[in-house]
Amino acid sequence: MSAKPVLEVRNLFKHFPMRQSMLDMLRRRQAEVVCAVDGVSFSLEKGEVLALVGESGCGKTTIVRTLIGLEEATSGEILFKGQEVESQNQNEKNKISLKQLRQRVQIVFQDPYESLDPRATIFDIVSEPLVVHGMAANRDELHARVKMSLEEAGLRPAEDYLLRYPHELSGGQRQRVVIAAAMVLEPELLLADEPVSMLDVSIRAEILNLLNALRRSRGISILFITHDLGTVGHFANHLAVMYLGRIVEIGPTAEVLKNPQHPYTRALLSVVPVPNPKLRRKMIILSGETPNPINLPNGCRFHPRCPLAMDECKLNDQHLVDVGNKHQAACLLAQ
Ligand code: SF4
Repeated sequence: MSAKPVLEVRNLFKHFPMRQSMLDMLRRRQAEVVCAVDGVSFSLEKGEVLALVGESGCGKTTIVRTLIGLEEATSGEILFKGQEVESQNQNEKNKISLKQLRQRVQIVFQDPYESLDPRATIFDIVSEPLVVHGMAANRDELHARVKMSLEEAGLRPAEDYLLRYPHELSGGQRQRVVIAAAMVLEPELLLADEPVSMLDVSIRAEILNLLNALRRSRGISILFITHDLGTVGHFANHLAVMYLGRIVEIGPTAEVLKNPQHPYTRALLSVVPVPNPKLRRKMIILSGETPNPINLPNGCRFHPRCPLAMDECKLNDQHLVDVGNKHQAACLLAQ
């Protein structure tokens, strides 16, 4: 029997009702709803990286927050190694609790400046998860595990960092501390939410290489959230492109990059810089703004901006269809 995926998300919806004015309530107007995540499904195998790519506001971060219980799903299922995850504030038998989940799933946030307590030393920051989860038998073990995690994150020798404060480190070093604090609990899944977007271009590759090395040495799975299709090529095994709360294209990274089927994926790819000018694609600039998620367009939700839109696109909503090689796309023209 094959092993269960580390993470499985099935038909996940997360809608946020808007606050109503008194007048709306008196008129018994229904509250408007923001469709942040609108029927998303994917799975992630052990030791693999799945990149979720899309513009800001497409629902990527809401997915991450829902996965670890910071938001309650409107509907849908989240399974960790085949076991369903309990809902917020509920103790449900036969489901993995949020406390257990938060030990086995860790997050690396976008902003290393914000995610570190400026008054805590690096030792305090990296040891805190071990203390909270009671995972070190004594002070010596605590020290040993903190040092090992810092060194694995590339902060060597660890002794030089233990008593320093976040403001004494560079942006790249701070993100390494965030990664060390995430890895100290030996998680099975890492949710990396735009982990390099706040860093200088020169150190982005270093941090991605570090995550890749940890994936190989620890066998962890990574859900990599990014708005930049240029960072996924050498890093992610699978790629899912999101637009307005939905996955519009998904498949093995090499296959999707070589043979993009959705016009939105093609537009994102067209602006990725390539070193070889002969391989440069014609730039596709999308017109208009992303539609309001409170008032989604009828038919294909990409049609107001799609350079290939036809009359038919305004009539029928598009769902993912197989296009071969484990590749799916949600477009009438997908082959
Ligand atoms: Fe564009 Fe039509 Fe395909 Fe939607 S279905 S992406 S509007 S061509």
